Amino acid sequence: MPTNALTAVDVTPAKINLIGLGQDALAEFFDGLGEKGFRAQQIMGWLYQRGVLNFRDMTDISLRLRRRLELIATLTLPKVIRVEESADGTRKWLLDIGAGQAVETVFIPEANRNTLCISSQAGCALDCAFCATGQQGFNRNLSAAEILGQVLVVKRALGPEVVLSNIVFMGMGEPLANYRHVVPVAKLLINDHAFGLSRRRVTISTAGLVPQLYRLAKDCNVALAVSLHAPSDTLRDVLVPINRRHPIGELLQACWQYAASRASRQITFEYVMLRDVNDSLRDARRLAGLLRKRPAKVNLIPFNSFPGTRYQCSTPESIENFCHELRSAGIVATIRRKRGDDIAAACGQLAGQVTDRTRVRLGAKTFRSVRL
Ligand code: SAH
Repeated sequence: MPTNALTAVDVTPAKINLIGLGQDALAEFFDGLGEKGFRAQQIMGWLYQRGVLNFRDMTDISLRLRRRLELIATLTLPKVIRVEESADGTRKWLLDIGAGQAVETVFIPEANRNTLCISSQAGCALDCAFCATGQQGFNRNLSAAEILGQVLVVKRALGPEVVLSNIVFMGMGEPLANYRHVVPVAKLLINDHAFGLSRRRVTISTAGLVPQLYRLAKDCNVALAVSLHAPSDTLRDVLVPINRRHPIGELLQACWQYAASRASRQITFEYVMLRDVNDSLRDARRLAGLLRKRPAKVNLIPFNSFPGTRYQCSTPESIENFCHELRSAGIVATIRRKRGDDIAAACGQLAGQVTDRTRVRLGAKTFRSVRL
């Protein structure tokens, strides 16, 4: 035997998961098979309108093509590890994304709408001071299949009677840091051949990645929520560290441009209420000064506690007073009701199972290297 003999390698190409592929990517896929572009619409109808997740049952596709698809493609959803239900009806899914990592998805039923809060990353690199996900560090971006898979897993579990009316990218991760996979999913959510939701009912929430905001305004102008949380750069630098790279002035400029790129679009500014940190009436007045006469509304989020945090939630009175101060300055402001607190499914409590890959050990100390 020659010593340099090639060792056998598996050359079977991996099957492509069609879940989450945007209309253009699907059309390209079918084009590569020598099929017409309308196949993309056809398959989106099966997957997202009829909820059929096997090629066999897609009866208006020729048997030959269905067999071919079975050989080269899959329709794979993330596996469910656990489902928890809160006393208030909120439900949380823990989903396996392989290699010991897991992400969470939260279903929030309300009288007039049903919202699904989806994750875009395993962990998060932004390290906001008051967020449980941030404390875990960052592992990786989710694929489009893993992001849209969350919607499909929940839809299947809820059955046809329950309509998901709103989807918010407010779970684990910073959606705009995973732009490449988040935008095709958002587009599918508003595509009439797929989920057909109105743009107002799909919300991307961001801590403020300014360059991506300008891109998003052009690529996929869905509803926008911005995690402001502080009325001054000095405080925001501490609470939302990405502010050191994109300070408030720059961020707000991008927001107004985003709002202007579609008529009558309001941006929601999220503001977590932290006791004695950002909740004074002076803070409220400064915040009002930033947003007055702009297409903006404020959503005050009572801080949700989690193990190890040094912050406390503002008192109900100071939240009321803060809200009142904003309103008397002419700002539309609401207070977010706590949901799913008993199953750690409330804003900023999502932890999943994440092994931080960004912490580099140097001697006894651990540093986090944040790359965006
Ligand atoms: N990365 C995105 C999505 C994060 S989660 C963003 O920053 O917008 C959605 C909202 O929950 C954000 O406004 C986030 O700042 C807020 N949040 C994070 N931790 C929280 C906590 N412990 N209590 C209340 N809100 C929190």
